[in-house]
Amino acid sequence: MLAALAAYQRGFAGRKAQICYAMKANSSLGVLQVFAQAGCGFDIVSGGELERVLAAGGDAARVIFSGVGKTRAEMRQALDAGIGCFNVESEAELEVLNEVALSAGKPARVSIRVNPNVDPKTHPYISTGLKGNKFGVAHERALGAYQRAAALPGLQVVGIDCHIGSQITEATPYLDAMDRVLDLVEAIEAAGIPIQHLDFGGGLGIDYNGETPPPADALWAQLLARLDARGFGQRQLMIEPGRSLVGNAGVCLSEVLYLKPGAEKNFCIIDAAMNDLPRPAMYQAFQQIVPLSPRVDVSAPTTWDVVGPVCESGDWIGRDRALAVQAGDLLAILSAGAYCMSMASNYNTRGRAAEVLVDGDHASVIRRRESAADQMRGENLLR
Ligand SMILES: *Cc1c(COP(=O)(O)O)cnc(C)c1O
Repeated sequence: MLAALAAYQRGFAGRKAQICYAMKANSSLGVLQVFAQAGCGFDIVSGGELERVLAAGGDAARVIFSGVGKTRAEMRQALDAGIGCFNVESEAELEVLNEVALSAGKPARVSIRVNPNVDPKTHPYISTGLKGNKFGVAHERALGAYQRAAALPGLQVVGIDCHIGSQITEATPYLDAMDRVLDLVEAIEAAGIPIQHLDFGGGLGIDYNGETPPPADALWAQLLARLDARGFGQRQLMIEPGRSLVGNAGVCLSEVLYLKPGAEKNFCIIDAAMNDLPRPAMYQAFQQIVPLSPRVDVSAPTTWDVVGPVCESGDWIGRDRALAVQAGDLLAILSAGAYCMSMASNYNTRGRAAEVLVDGDHASVIRRRESAADQMRGENLLR
């Protein structure tokens, strides 16, 4: 995690830049604490995430609040905490935020998330900057939205932002989005509305299965060259990386419960499932699976579908994997640091896993294994 953060910090050396960890990737308190202590701000998408930031010792002034469906209560909570910026995603949200800010007697600092309409060339479920996506304000409406925001007395325009998708493995979509955003900044400032900060979102991919995304510092060297060329290099910059800060730092450890060879498929049934690792079921995502102690006593690897105990055919973790395994073996499912625990559920009344944060030879349990009693807390029998 800290090595991944350092790549961004190197990339921004000598610039005015704020890294806001997009905490939905992994919102465990111990993880947030590590990033807060390293000076990160946070990109949040709910009032619950704001409570986590504060509980982990994060600085509210370095929080930016994204998301298409902020409620009035969440807006009020964020204003009271004194967050740095609301990343507003629609014209209707501007109006509501203005009302909430006026009634709270606190101006809301806003950035408008613009949709640059560029193709990040990633899975459709994790592309967010295309015209057909629900996110952001369309490029052609952005100037009008800024004029409206500047006219609303409860709002203070401070920035502009975009975020085009996730697991992006090349620089071109970022460069295209940057150009589209800078075109807008020029138009907005020509209309008399100054833009203090430029926020280019997150989305940088990681290596799950041989992908070769640019390292963060190399990507940002290219992007900063483009910013400099267009005269924006000295602006306050913000970014919102999530996956690339935590994804490759995490593994999920699981035990092989049963081997079930069949006529068409061989199943390797493990004790982790789609409720722990939802990415394969949700996006047909690939995660490497490696035995902790490679076996020499099993003659040849066989091809297995690695599946969990959940009662769904979609409950698979890996398909057609060559593995030399036996019941009782431990497997590591790699690159599980992002969008796994934070998406984990209790489906089938399965307790969520324990989490252990490892630092050199030191290990800390940052989340204990969830019990059935934990899961039933808050439920009532009929009277
Ligand atoms: C999810 C999200 C991010 C982080 O995306 P990653 O692909 O995890 O880097 C950043 N900004 C916004 C607005 C997001 O929704």
